[in-house]
Amino acid sequence: MAVTVDAWKTSQACPRCGYTSEDNRPGKGLLFTCQACHVVLHADLVGARNVALRTLLVRQDWARTGVLSERPDVSDEEAKAAQRRRYAEVRWSPDTSPHAFAGGI
Ligand SMILES: [Zn+2]
Repeated sequence: MAVTVDAWKTSQACPRCGYTSEDNRPGKGLLFTCQACHVVLHADLVGARNVALRTLLVRQDWARTGVLSERPDVSDEEAKAAQRRRYAEVRWSPDTSPHAFAGGI
């Protein structure tokens, strides 16, 4: 099954601390450098982790409500803002990546 998630700022949001800024992608290159917690990762890995985290939110909502709704109604700014606040609250924990590089996340 494929689930569609909101791609908004997936490559600019730090999966470790949540800080979101264009400045996390200096020169819009492939290197992600969080300006808040200083984690450094390949930008594609950051984007993939953020997509994975959002997919988990969709699955949690689906399990709780029985309704699969992968995207907020884009015409409803309040719903969209609430959804994006949830995105900012999820974190990628090293505890979920036991095989990660030493010093990585
Ligand atoms: Zn960070």
